[in-house]
Amino acid sequence: MRRMLELGLVAAGENVLSTTLRKEETLADLKEDGTIVWRRARKIVDPAPVKDEEGGEETAVDAADVETLVFNTVSEFRLAVVREKNPERKVDNGWDWVKYAGVKLGDIKRRLPPEPKPEPKPRAKREPKPTPTPKKRKKITDDERGYHAAVKRIVVPAREKRESRNASKNINIGESFDGQGDLQMVTCEAYNKRRTQPFKVTVTSGAELVMDFHAHLCSDEIIGFLGGVYDDDAKTLRITRALPARQLVQEHAGVEVELDPESVPAIVETLTAKGEGIVGWYHSHPVFATQPSIRDIQNQFEYQKMFARSDGESQTIAPFVGAIVGPYDVRNDSQKSDVRMFHCVDFGGEPEPYELKVEHAGCEDVSPDVLRELKGLADRFRTTPHAGVGDSEPLAAIDLNATPVSLTEHWRDGTTRLEKFEHSLCARLPKSWQDETKTAYVGGIVKYLKTAWGVAAA
Ligand SMILES: [Zn+2]
Repeated sequence: MRRMLELGLVAAGENVLSTTLRKEETLADLKEDGTIVWRRARKIVDPAPVKDEEGGEETAVDAADVETLVFNTVSEFRLAVVREKNPERKVDNGWDWVKYAGVKLGDIKRRLPPEPKPEPKPRAKREPKPTPTPKKRKKITDDERGYHAAVKRIVVPAREKRESRNASKNINIGESFDGQGDLQMVTCEAYNKRRTQPFKVTVTSGAELVMDFHAHLCSDEIIGFLGGVYDDDAKTLRITRALPARQLVQEHAGVEVELDPESVPAIVETLTAKGEGIVGWYHSHPVFATQPSIRDIQNQFEYQKMFARSDGESQTIAPFVGAIVGPYDVRNDSQKSDVRMFHCVDFGGEPEPYELKVEHAGCEDVSPDVLRELKGLADRFRTTPHAGVGDSEPLAAIDLNATPVSLTEHWRDGTTRLEKFEHSLCARLPKSWQDETKTAYVGGIVKYLKTAWGVAAA
């Protein structure tokens, strides 16, 4: 747990951990030192259920009726919860049953770099080698050396890198998990005065709306393409729309996503009909930072190779971007989701991720296609009651490849996920719109979503 905190995969906070036993959810706090704090309501004679309101400031429970339990490990916490119902239980695997912001801790753990191996025993007759120089790249200039050193890459053993590089040859976009370390995130470099962004990128409100809406619907990673055009004269990549794709069923869908290839032809057809093409891809990191994983970087790089072309002045350019949406990261600055666009630059070593500055297309309107797309997404991920069971049963997802998010769940600061969602959508609408127009537009979509998903009005 402490390593996950140190690497920023999880953040300390109140009620950020949850575990469900017999449909009853128990919340716990995660502390900076990695311990877990559960404020358990003491059993009282009166059987009236006393539960801490999700994220509520005040609880109805008297301080004296709550005992504070501190655990050093996730499994100890889970075991204590299980023992409430089954005092005989001796062990329980917390990694499989405790969630952080809705994602299984075991899945998040897979993002950890491999534990540093213990020092191998020095063999007899072998001089201990001096520590190798930090970077062993071929023929790089001092300038580049400085740049490479600045890339805050988390060190992965070389062999694993090579393995995953081979794996990426079969161009699956998304993060299929086939080597530990693939899911580690790499901090993007920023372009500056000396190293300037090779082309401009603009995005429309409509494209942002669809990406953000799609990402908010699932607690699993979602995936799609970005459509638009590259303007050679203006050296500008114009992203005009986002096209949701289907993902394949994944065992660890909260942290990895793979595209269903069958959903691609329809996307290409839509774009061709509009005289546009695929200019990028997007996916979500439901509760993580929007930095690309090593696997994301490899996929992006493969795409750039596929889409590379001449700019007419004997230069090769690859106008293709990767976007990562972070809908429910509790560390976001605001309720507006973080959307990061990046591409890869290869300086003879290996592709390094560079963040792309994106300008708003300055659109005054949102195409009616967008509203249709949003409603289609709401329908695709909607939930339906199980046939023949009571209302209290959980709803089943129509799209079985993804887990719809629980919209009424607490997100942060007393805000539900749905409230956060609405706010983020409003922030995507054209700046020229009046606040009332924005609220009405988003209100309409949210009403549609709530009806489709059977979410009771607050
Ligand atoms: Zn990713």
